[in-house]
Amino acid sequence: GIAKADAPMVQETDSQAASLGYKADAAKVDKVKYPRFATGQQCSSCTLYQAKAGAQSGACSIFPGKQVAAKAWCSAYNKKA
Ligand code: SF4
Repeated sequence: GIAKADAPMVQETDSQAASLGYKADAAKVDKVKYPRFATGQQCSSCTLYQAKAGAQSGACSIFPGKQVAAKAWCSAYNKKA
């Protein structure tokens, strides 16, 4: 379900976030390390993201109990159909 509004944000330094190349600002993704990243990809257009429309952050099933930024990205990105 949708993460509680007070759930902590995923930190880029969290071990799982770091291993997935998570960046709170998708513009800062390491494009050399993650060549499949394409400009415009971000959590809010990922199938794993759940949030109210227009929210700045939401839940991601990869990071239970935490929130990811709508404008973030990680290498598990999967574009919504
Ligand atoms: Fe964002 Fe999708 Fe990665 Fe979750 S899986 S952090 S929603 S890009």
